[in-house]
Amino acid sequence: MIQKGKHMNEKSKTTVKQVFKNLGRLYWMTKEHFGWGFLRFIGGISSALIGVFGSWIMGTVIDVALSGDFKRFHSFMFLIALQITLRGIINYVNPLTGRRYSVYSGRKIRTLAIEKINRLPISYYEKKHTAETISRLANDIDSLQEFYSDSIAGIWSFVPSMLISSTWLLCSIDPLLTLICGSIIPIIWFFVGKISIPIGDTSKNVQKSIAEYNSYLRDFLEGIHIYIAFAMKKIFASKFEKACRDVVEESLKMSRMRSKAIGLNIFSFIIPQALAYGIGGIFVVNGRLTIGQLVIFANVLFPLLNSIRQLSGSWADFLTQSGRAQHLYELLDSPEERADGEDFTDNPHDTVIEFENVRYSYVDGNPVLTDTSFKICEGKKVALVGSSGSGKTTVHKLILGYYDNYGGIIRFYDKDIREWNLKALRNQVSVVTQEVYLFCDTIMENIRLGNPQASDEEVINAAKAAYAHDFIMEFTDGYKTPVGERGMKLSGGQRQRIAIARAMLKNAPVLLLDEPTSALDTKAEYYVQKALERLEEGKTVFITAHRLSTIINADEILVLDSGRIVESGTHEELINRKTKYYELYNRQVFEHEGKVTA
Ligand code: ADP
Repeated sequence: MIQKGKHMNEKSKTTVKQVFKNLGRLYWMTKEHFGWGFLRFIGGISSALIGVFGSWIMGTVIDVALSGDFKRFHSFMFLIALQITLRGIINYVNPLTGRRYSVYSGRKIRTLAIEKINRLPISYYEKKHTAETISRLANDIDSLQEFYSDSIAGIWSFVPSMLISSTWLLCSIDPLLTLICGSIIPIIWFFVGKISIPIGDTSKNVQKSIAEYNSYLRDFLEGIHIYIAFAMKKIFASKFEKACRDVVEESLKMSRMRSKAIGLNIFSFIIPQALAYGIGGIFVVNGRLTIGQLVIFANVLFPLLNSIRQLSGSWADFLTQSGRAQHLYELLDSPEERADGEDFTDNPHDTVIEFENVRYSYVDGNPVLTDTSFKICEGKKVALVGSSGSGKTTVHKLILGYYDNYGGIIRFYDKDIREWNLKALRNQVSVVTQEVYLFCDTIMENIRLGNPQASDEEVINAAKAAYAHDFIMEFTDGYKTPVGERGMKLSGGQRQRIAIARAMLKNAPVLLLDEPTSALDTKAEYYVQKALERLEEGKTVFITAHRLSTIINADEILVLDSGRIVESGTHEELINRKTKYYELYNRQVFEHEGKVTA
């Protein structure tokens, strides 16, 4: 589970510059859809101008009617009809263009995020919880998608057009009344702005606490068998409760801030209106204003104040979305796995894998490999043994190019893997590990992952070679049987044979087997072992195995201890030497016999 970060207490400040930088980048990321955004922008301006125009007509028509000028009255009727028609058209077009802008932009940022995920190194996933990444992809992007059209429609087009056109109209009717009504707004605004600033940081905390909550939930669902078997539901319930509490606390904190900002803002709405009716009424009695002009004033003041309210609310929204965008950029800006390098497959080579004084540590000051050197020649089967935690899997991961911050040299086909293109290198390798990952699809498609171009017949042949065909055919739907989430509908041995069939189909010249039978019982192991023997034919095999009985026939056995290869040789040679391997082997025989007699 991910550690509860310090973020809840961190007092990181979001600066105004940072907010605009974050949002500017957000718009720029989807610049190819600016066309739709521009149409929505024009729609927003038109909507504001027609609104102000409509208010002017409605008020003026009263004065025209009171003056008895029926000719002008009729032309105003025409203008009213025109204004209604235009409003209808705009109200129809605006949601269409706005929706397109946000949906296409949302698709673009989702694509960027997915592409990025494909290019991230394994170390990223080892540090971050899956649920955290999912939260970035789901919640953040959903919300940012809406922001695209909402912001273009509101703060960038409708609101400023409404502010300028209606302020101009109000000033042309009565500048003094406009000044009186408007004077209160900046004061209220100042306080709203002060209250709104911390909302951005709180928004980030809300997203992070949701990601933590999701990670607990995901761990629970994936490890449900363990939780039940170890009667750990209570422990989980308390962790879950705490995560829920954090989500609630952070959300409430944010809603408190928002409520304060919105609550205070309402005064900038009510007070100017009261002033307009009160003082404006006196002006009508004095003859300074006509009734029609007061109607225009009141009608225009209402949407104007609404726009001002929107404008100040937008700042809080900017801060929220900037927090979300930053959350997304943390993913998009993570360092990628390198994509350069060459494909050296055609080079003549004797040695397939070579480690020369390799040093590696996951955490500084805690080395896993201190000085590891060995060679694996073409067509040989070499086993790596050592106690649990000695670094066997790490050696496999280094061969696959998962990490590049190691010391020494690792060669693949006689070339430094730093010069290799990682995709080309991985194409030369089939991996079978202790824990098999099956995707929630049919058996057929899970095997086909080894070679997406393979025909059904080739898939079936691979399954036959991996001793999987018979059990597959026992299912009612045969190869079309869904394996369930993570292959839960299959036994461990069946899952392993599917993984071997996948590797058969890939038919790569190098095989990395990482404890492929250690999670299986003796009967399941028998079939998997037979399948592996077939898979190994004609390949260079590098195997780690906990059960030493499974690697006795290897051409060479390497013993890893304290981060280095301490001895190597065939099983007989190492047994006769009576050192580390002998010790490991005897311990296992003893443990096994102990278990049998217990
Ligand atoms: P083995 O396969 O021999 O059991 P590993 O290669 O899996 O050993 O692990 C070697 C050591 O490195 C262990 O102490 C393990 O805890 C540590 N380790 C493995 N993976 C990571 C990781 N992603 N981050 C930090 N430490 C790790």
